Amino acid sequence: MIKCNKCGRELSVVNDIPREDFLQINKSWGYFSKKDGKNYKFVLCEKCCDDFVSTFEIPVDVEDNIELL
Ligand SMILES: [Zn+2]
Repeated sequence: MIKCNKCGRELSVVNDIPREDFLQINKSWGYFSKKDGKNYKFVLCEKCCDDFVSTFEIPVDVEDNIELL
């Protein structure tokens, strides 16, 4: 089961295959952080990701994925 960490909504998964796309962060903090040795993992659904990036001072780089065309 995959849940969005921000809104808590359960993402739709059928036969272990996610039926909607989401952002997955897996960050291993290093020596120069205050979280050295800690591994952070979280998931954001597409809406929460959109809400998150809309708060950015510098917009996300968006490029067309040519391989999909
Ligand atoms: Zn969400």
